[in-house]
Amino acid sequence: MEREKALAVVEKAITKQRYQHTLGVMETAISLAKRYGADVKKAELAAIFHDYAKFRPKDEMRKIIIEQNMPKDLLEYNTELWHAPVGAYLVEKEVGISDKEILDAIRYHTSGRENMTLLEKVIYLADYIEPGRSFPGVDEVRELAQKDLNEALVQSISNTIAFLMKKKQPIYPETFKTYNALVMKN
Ligand code: GDP
Ligand code: FE
Ligand code: FE
Ligand code: FE
Repeated sequence: MEREKALAVVEKAITKQRYQHTLGVMETAISLAKRYGADVKKAELAAIFHDYAKFRPKDEMRKIIIEQNMPKDLLEYNTELWHAPVGAYLVEKEVGISDKEILDAIRYHTSGRENMTLLEKVIYLADYIEPGRSFPGVDEVRELAQKDLNEALVQSISNTIAFLMKKKQPIYPETFKTYNALVMKN
């Protein structure tokens, strides 16, 4: 699917602000893909659709998680986690993208997973460092992203976990597993 078509499709599914975020993720993902040798067209499409399901009603997402046999523990954790796997499902079903690598990059863009592919890492990181983001510590991750993809990824996940813990929010086990897998490899 061409970029213009894909953008027109996603623009209808999300808010203006989220669309601006999506454009930032797209540009950042393309740049990271070029730097680290990921498939640039797949990075572009995965970025464009990564937040496709962000504004779906919770009831619809819950139903999809149950009916499509997605991990049940998702239902116990923050509903913010749901749009990633549900997005992968809806992008295939409604948009017609069937490339597994693209769909997995969407599926794991919030929690990550053990043994992430290069494309998954690119999308996870692009989502975190796109120019519109202003988390504390994001500039450090932006700099790391120019040098070492895995170091940047560890830092972004570590920041996210610390941020959630500060707010006494539960941490989804996959998020911890992602973090552990990355630091234990180093
Ligand atoms: P966005 O969709 O572009 O805003 O970004 P993400 O999809 O990466 O994250 C969505 C939200 O999920 C953010 O507010 C994160 O802080 C939150 N989040 C990410 N991982 C976890 C987790 O393990 N547990 C919980 N409770 N929230 C998480
Ligand atoms: Fe997201
Ligand atoms: Fe993210
Ligand atoms: Fe996002």
